[in-house]
Amino acid sequence: MTRAISGFFWITIFLAVVLLPVALMLVSPLPSGRLFWLEMSVAFGFFGLTQIAVQFVLIARFKAVTAPYGIDVILQFHRQLALVAIAAIIVHPLIIVLDNPSRLKLLNPLEGNWASRFALLSLLALVAIAVTTLFRERLKIDYEYWRLSHLALGVAAVVFAQLHVSMAGLYTNTFWKQAIWIVMAITMVGLVVYLRVIKPLVQKGNRWRVAQVRPERGRTWSLVLEPVDHPGMRFLPGQFAWIKIANTPFTLEEHPFSFSSSAQREDRVEFGIKELGDFTSTIKDLKPGTLANLDGPYGAFCIDRYPAVGYVFIAGGVGITPMISFLRSMADRRDPRPILLIYAVGTEDDLAFHENIEELRELLDLKVVYVLQNPPDGWEGESGFVTSELLERHVPQELIHRYFFVCGPPPMMGAVYDALMALGVRKELIHQERFNLA
Ligand SMILES: Cc1cc2nc3c(=O)[nH]c(=O)nc-3n(C[C@H](O)[C@H](O)[C@H](O)COP(=O)(O)OP(=O)(O)OC[C@H]3O[C@@H](n4cnc5c(N)ncnc54)[C@H](O)[C@@H]3O)c2cc1C
Repeated sequence: MTRAISGFFWITIFLAVVLLPVALMLVSPLPSGRLFWLEMSVAFGFFGLTQIAVQFVLIARFKAVTAPYGIDVILQFHRQLALVAIAAIIVHPLIIVLDNPSRLKLLNPLEGNWASRFALLSLLALVAIAVTTLFRERLKIDYEYWRLSHLALGVAAVVFAQLHVSMAGLYTNTFWKQAIWIVMAITMVGLVVYLRVIKPLVQKGNRWRVAQVRPERGRTWSLVLEPVDHPGMRFLPGQFAWIKIANTPFTLEEHPFSFSSSAQREDRVEFGIKELGDFTSTIKDLKPGTLANLDGPYGAFCIDRYPAVGYVFIAGGVGITPMISFLRSMADRRDPRPILLIYAVGTEDDLAFHENIEELRELLDLKVVYVLQNPPDGWEGESGFVTSELLERHVPQELIHRYFFVCGPPPMMGAVYDALMALGVRKELIHQERFNLA
């Protein structure tokens, strides 16, 4: 209930903020002699710009904002909202030109004025953001470069748009109207400073060091961190943190990983990290004592948020890590509730945490179904993919009212979601964690 109220509260604040500039346009003194379509075009521009401004709040990782929904939902919201905002901003010059085609010259930097040049620069930055985000993988843009350029282009788009608004001067003709836009610009820059300077400064007093790096099956490594002169970090099973491995918390490279350790132990946290690319391939070489920084915990993929008589966990590959945290936490809590774990991987050698899962079976009411895409000769368990037939075999009707937690590669999550729906599971009972944020 509190989460619903909190969600409602933030959505109301969001709508109020986004609609504020359009409302302000209606407060006199209004520019005279303006026709409907010009006013309409400006309304689209203000509506889009304020939405872009709100994006800075969404990405600033405020726990009060992310907690009711989970950060992946917030980032999804950010993506969709930003596209709506960019579309609204594109409509702004489009109406102006359609209303009077001779204004097309404003889009030519040589013929226009400074107000139109800044508008053009802002628009180009926004289009670049949309293209590099929507087609990042196809354009083969490295994630870290994308992230840096995303931030730089976002700040540039807003600064140029603010310059355009103040130079156009039509709706900044009173001190208080100007003040609102200036406060908005300062807030946006302030939020970037908060995320990139103030937060790392706070993290400086909460450093961690590598205690151990343990090999698991399936090119996965358990990274064990212990706090340096502080009590540690409280988290809920299933949550994640952004890890920076560096002597300074000001480094821009940080990667999100789910906690794999028990939430009952805040003084020693573990992550199960699969070798996938540049950063994850360096984990195995980390020496004990190496300094690290954690930003977290984040995420709403938590059993503690959804009390139930029992759970069904469905994991694919390294998507097992949050489930391991669920199981370890439940074992430490002597939780008697029944659990069904369906765990799909390529081969038997990919079954990360297999030995630990078998140990946990002794402590929990845990049934495990291993699914191997390429089973060895003589394998008597399930093979292939997690299909609706497989789920029908292992999820009897009395289990379909339980909470389902699903984490794995995107194609598997889509297929499992469809299969669960076909089985009759209500969508509000299905919780998914996506390991790809962009
Ligand atoms: C909420 C969440 C929890 C996760 N938990 C785990 C886990 O428990 N174990 C695990 O092995 N992996 C986990 N991941 C995935 C992990 O963050 C990426 O595999 C890792 O960042 C890849 O970095 P790389 O440089 O090795 O690979 P790259 O080859 O550089 O990147 C591969 C892909 O990983 C993603 N990625 C890369 N860098 C980042 C970054 N800095 N921030 C966000 N995404 C990035 C991008 O989608 C990219 O296309 C999780 C991801 C998310 C979002």
